[in-house]
Amino acid sequence: MSFDVSRIRAEFPILAREVRGVPLVYLDNAASSQKPRAVIDAVSHYYEHSNANIHRAVHALSEEATGLYEGARTKVADLLGAASAQEVVFVRGTTEAINLVAQAFVRPRIAEGDEILVSHLEHHSNIVPWQMLCEQTGAVLRVAPIDDRGEIPLEGYAKLLGPRTRLVALGHVSNALGTIVPVQEMVRLAHDHGAPVLLDGAQAVPHLRVDVQDLDCDFYAFSGHKVYGPTGIGALWGRAELLDEMEPYQGGGEMILSVSFDKTVYNKVPYKFEAGTPNIAGAVGLGAAADWLRAHDFGALMRHEDDLLDYATQRAAEVPGLRVIGTARRKTGVLSFVLGDIHAHDVGTIVDREGVAVRTGHHCAQPVMDHFGVPATTRASFAAYNTRQDVDQLIAALHKVLEIFGE
Ligand code: PLP
Repeated sequence: MSFDVSRIRAEFPILAREVRGVPLVYLDNAASSQKPRAVIDAVSHYYEHSNANIHRAVHALSEEATGLYEGARTKVADLLGAASAQEVVFVRGTTEAINLVAQAFVRPRIAEGDEILVSHLEHHSNIVPWQMLCEQTGAVLRVAPIDDRGEIPLEGYAKLLGPRTRLVALGHVSNALGTIVPVQEMVRLAHDHGAPVLLDGAQAVPHLRVDVQDLDCDFYAFSGHKVYGPTGIGALWGRAELLDEMEPYQGGGEMILSVSFDKTVYNKVPYKFEAGTPNIAGAVGLGAAADWLRAHDFGALMRHEDDLLDYATQRAAEVPGLRVIGTARRKTGVLSFVLGDIHAHDVGTIVDREGVAVRTGHHCAQPVMDHFGVPATTRASFAAYNTRQDVDQLIAALHKVLEIFGE
């Protein structure tokens, strides 16, 4: 399988459209990626041919829908290198997965003065659920520092592990900077202290080969919409024995075996965590996205994205006043930067007029912005379908910004 970017682009219908009278250059992939025809078709085919509620009825459509939903679970398990599909819980996305682990796994096992360890690189969704848990229980949030490249020095992290660490929660890849975090080593260190580890893989699954067994983590979370799949669906992988031990997250239909006013018996894993009618079409779409990723040469895809990052970093150096924020030695395709004194929102608005979609702001990672002493950055983030020409258009648009601001 060779990597042919024009063939990949042809699979994404939205890339053919224009915005503001110019062809779209979509560089906001870390926020949400575009969807290939295979995913769009899987979702509409599901609604056109198989739509029904799952698990409950004996009629043909329900059986078909159940088969598709459970089939998607197996595809996600394969994508993550999980030992069993029963270890995959469908959730709304990474945010819900992290809240689930906080409330159903950590909360019953934590006491006042115990600690949760995160890093300074985290997305708000891997900070706020832990702050809420600390408020509820009197536990303490510890934060591993980052350096000026946007890396987490291992010594600083290791020093914060201790006998009271009840969970370590780490982003696998930083959404704001693209830093690839050495999570395997960090999991090993946490396990040496008996602390389980949750990895937030929202920015990793689209760009890296993830194998939860190799990583040896205890929980792994990601979102469908960042990995060429639909919104409103994602997955939490957890070690079977931990999921088994955990109490349910929410109560309702589907998550029970029997209910009476005297006693309710919960369903087995993973259904115990999937109360109510799930996002069936979303799961089907996510299964199609997993198939799509696995059908491509992932090594070639990673090399393509690396090439785009190198090229963009090199071309960014030509733009007067541009300062890259986040220069980790191992990065995915994220170029975060500030441009002189021009506010990121002004940069974003002007490049948008040239058809270039980038993200501006704090990227739900305000502590990262605080570390670098900036309120916001402009972030270009790459996916499989981006090209060097997209980078050239971004750079040309940045020169326009400088012209307008007379810099
Ligand atoms: N973690 C990281 C690293 C992210 O980049 C994001 C989304 O930007 C999230 C968590 C939250 O994902 P979602 O909004 O899909 O739940």
